[in-house]
Amino acid sequence: MIRYSEKIDSTKLLGPGERAVLWVHGCCFDCPGCIAWNFRYGTFREETAEKLAEWVLSTSATGITISGGEPMLQAAELARMLEVVREKMDIGVIVYTGYVYETLLEKAGEEEGIRDFLRQIDLLIDGPYLEKQNNNEPFRGSFNQRILPLTERYKDLIEGYYHQSKGRQIEVRLQGDKTLMVGIPSKDQAAIWQRIKDLGSKQT
Ligand code: SF4
Repeated sequence: MIRYSEKIDSTKLLGPGERAVLWVHGCCFDCPGCIAWNFRYGTFREETAEKLAEWVLSTSATGITISGGEPMLQAAELARMLEVVREKMDIGVIVYTGYVYETLLEKAGEEEGIRDFLRQIDLLIDGPYLEKQNNNEPFRGSFNQRILPLTERYKDLIEGYYHQSKGRQIEVRLQGDKTLMVGIPSKDQAAIWQRIKDLGSKQT
């Protein structure tokens, strides 16, 4: 089973093209200033890798971005999901992780799930969020995080995408009775988002 907090069928904010996004639940890191509190400790759902693969295939997305939370904690199941999707559709895969790539390569030597998952990833954004290195550049939370093409798929595309991005942009969506922020917020946007959340919790 894959434990996740949210999923959306489509956005253009988390990588090239129309992308489905899956935010997995739970994290083994504790980065000061992390705003993904809800994806670490909030409510979650669980579905099989096959069921979530069906969801990905039902969207019109040409890529999927997996964030969280920490995707590597569910590496084997996520690898299975992507394997099922790719049996039917050639989809691009972007993953955000708090681990640095070198650590993942070491772990991959012992953990089959990490090895399988890394094989499915086209672009990895690695490393923990470091508040002091948050310089408001697009696509990553802080400057220490690297944008690493693990395959050829986004290698040429990603530099253009990165430089053409008009700074950080977010979408705020209503999902049922909850609000969801999509994208990497600037410091100002994160502060506004926090105020919205505080307001919401006072009204409930
Ligand atoms: S790895 Fe990501 S979700 Fe986990 S604590 Fe750090 S910023 Fe938050």
